[in-house]
Amino acid sequence: MNQKGGYMLRKLGKMKLKLLFGIIMSFSFGAFAQEELVLVENGISQAPIIVFEGAPPYTKQAANELAEYIGKIAGAKPTIIEGCPLPIPKHAIWVGYQPILKELFPKTNFDFKNPEEILISANKNYLVLAGRDRWPSKHLEIETHKRKINGVQQEYGTCNAVYTFLQEYLEVRWFWPGELGEDTIKRKTISFKPFEYRYYPQIRFRNGIFNYSSLKSKPLYGQSKDWVRHQRLQLDSLDVAAGHPFTTWWERYGKTHPEYFALQPNGTRGGSYPAYVKKMCEANPALWEQWLAEVGETLKKNPNETVFSTAENDGWDGGHCVCPNCQAWDHPDGELRRFTWTGEVAKDCVALSDRQLTFANTLARKLKEKYPNKDYYVLMMAYGHSRPAPVKAIPDKNVIVMSVSNFYGWNGAVDSRLSSRKNTYKQQYEDWAKIATQLIWRPNAGSPAGAPQGQPDISLHQTAKDFKFVAEHKCIGIFIDMIWEHWATLGPQYYLMAQLAWDPRQNSNAIMEDYYKRAFGKASDDMNAYWTLLENTREEFVKVRPSNEDTKSKKLDLAPYYEKCYNTEFFKNAYELLQKASTAVANEPEIYRKRIDFVKAGLDYTKLIIEVRSLMSVYKQSGMKDEEAKKQVLANWQSIEKLCKDNPYAINWGPIRPITPRMAGLHPDYMEKTNKNKNADTPKINEAAKKSKDKKTKKNVDNDNAPGFY
Ligand SMILES: [Zn+2]
Repeated sequence: MNQKGGYMLRKLGKMKLKLLFGIIMSFSFGAFAQEELVLVENGISQAPIIVFEGAPPYTKQAANELAEYIGKIAGAKPTIIEGCPLPIPKHAIWVGYQPILKELFPKTNFDFKNPEEILISANKNYLVLAGRDRWPSKHLEIETHKRKINGVQQEYGTCNAVYTFLQEYLEVRWFWPGELGEDTIKRKTISFKPFEYRYYPQIRFRNGIFNYSSLKSKPLYGQSKDWVRHQRLQLDSLDVAAGHPFTTWWERYGKTHPEYFALQPNGTRGGSYPAYVKKMCEANPALWEQWLAEVGETLKKNPNETVFSTAENDGWDGGHCVCPNCQAWDHPDGELRRFTWTGEVAKDCVALSDRQLTFANTLARKLKEKYPNKDYYVLMMAYGHSRPAPVKAIPDKNVIVMSVSNFYGWNGAVDSRLSSRKNTYKQQYEDWAKIATQLIWRPNAGSPAGAPQGQPDISLHQTAKDFKFVAEHKCIGIFIDMIWEHWATLGPQYYLMAQLAWDPRQNSNAIMEDYYKRAFGKASDDMNAYWTLLENTREEFVKVRPSNEDTKSKKLDLAPYYEKCYNTEFFKNAYELLQKASTAVANEPEIYRKRIDFVKAGLDYTKLIIEVRSLMSVYKQSGMKDEEAKKQVLANWQSIEKLCKDNPYAINWGPIRPITPRMAGLHPDYMEKTNKNKNADTPKINEAAKKSKDKKTKKNVDNDNAPGFY
């Protein structure tokens, strides 16, 4: 993939865009030279939207949204025509490619050479918003999580061209989900001088960043699907399952083919681990053939799939195969790491990187042999004991390495667990980038400063650096586990991530300046100061708090560290800034004050939950006898529940209910992560997940319930 190509195309487009800016829209009709394309003039639509015949559902939806937004901006909603009308209107907005466009735009190239490439072009009569669209004609409908999704494509260039046009050329902004988070600039006339803009994103797997609102996500916590689509994350072009593909194999083949499973030191296959964490005998050719047969089955059901995983089952340190063939794939110079097998003494052995990559390469070659004309990939997960780069093995071109390097929000985080070299995660990512053709960055969000509990775990500067770093190091996809959609405490962070995922070469300061200005108008400086205070306080907290490992292994209480940073002075300053912001927009449109109130709900929540942490600390220290502390905790929880109900996007109630595992210890009734507690995320909402869990498979169960997955 030519990563620079996207940049060059984009830059050329931006330059042209800059030349146009400031000229657009400010003249009356008389001033329009003949060469100017007028879409809306003085509140009257001059150009219908024409979408190609048989356009798939999401393209039609994008065309409808385009009409809606033109209506919102200029008060004139264009009509939508499907197909190629005769006679052809004098002016029109063409959504998606159709053959007539070659005549209407004789100098424009419509052969989209790059995945997801988009084109936005205007001449004096027409505007075209198109891009590379790919889908197998009969398979737009897929079934996932017991529901059908209609309109699933392999590439959605046209849709993303429409959303890019809305953001870049009609200046629509989506700060957070819902009406309050949307901003348009009213104008009576919309016109353009001729221009052409092309771009294709380097990061092709984007919908896993907000995975609860991805296209195929189960209806659990996600409430941001529209926002994620508008940000051009949802309709991406690499469908990657970030989990483990062998979780159900023991149930299906444990009795008939025990030889598929890892040989244990005691001579058994698979060991006494739960079915979904048993490891495979990766060097066994029979396993390769079965894997390949299953790829065939998958493709029969969903021909859209292009990426097939070889990731080992979870429980990364336990039960790996000790057969001579698997061990022959290890490299003697690999990093020493601590391995376990049930009933055995733990042992230091070399990292699994060379072994697991050889497995991935083997399957990648078989895949290419079976489907020589297809652009199929094999996914290898570099996590646990295969997180360091291999010593000798080199990934084949059709292998995607998914690196679970957990430096999201953790500046300088070290891979310390059972590792002898203690490299930083970032170093591990960089080492893989030296040999891999393409990488997916798949950090777990973790909890540097309370993100899973909905606290303002804001690290804008670090996140911008990290997104740029991975983009410069062969990143074609980002999946971040556990982004829980708390918009009032983490909104700017989410916004920046979304913008950089589409185009990591953007200037992050410019993105945020625009964000504050558009969202808060004259209160922009105060709101910038507010979020800067939150970011600085968070960075201070991350510096003073004990490491994640120590917190877990020594069962440390983080409450005193939170109290130290999120103290009375912090809240006083933060509330003052919001008050100042409200005053600054006292005479401005009401929406600015409403947006500030929305952010304030996040601060109210932060105060309540920090108090809960402190009170629970007191309560635990009293041996659960301090009734006064308990009473106050319960009162805070009542306030939190009400706050969430009143502001559904501000703090997402589902993931922070006291019963959920990530809130364990923050409510007197849920002191520990019990089994019952661990299931809290699934049963009521998804019966299928419960049944699946009952069968002791990990399918459909929330990722943060997974044992030892990090
Ligand atoms: Zn083996």
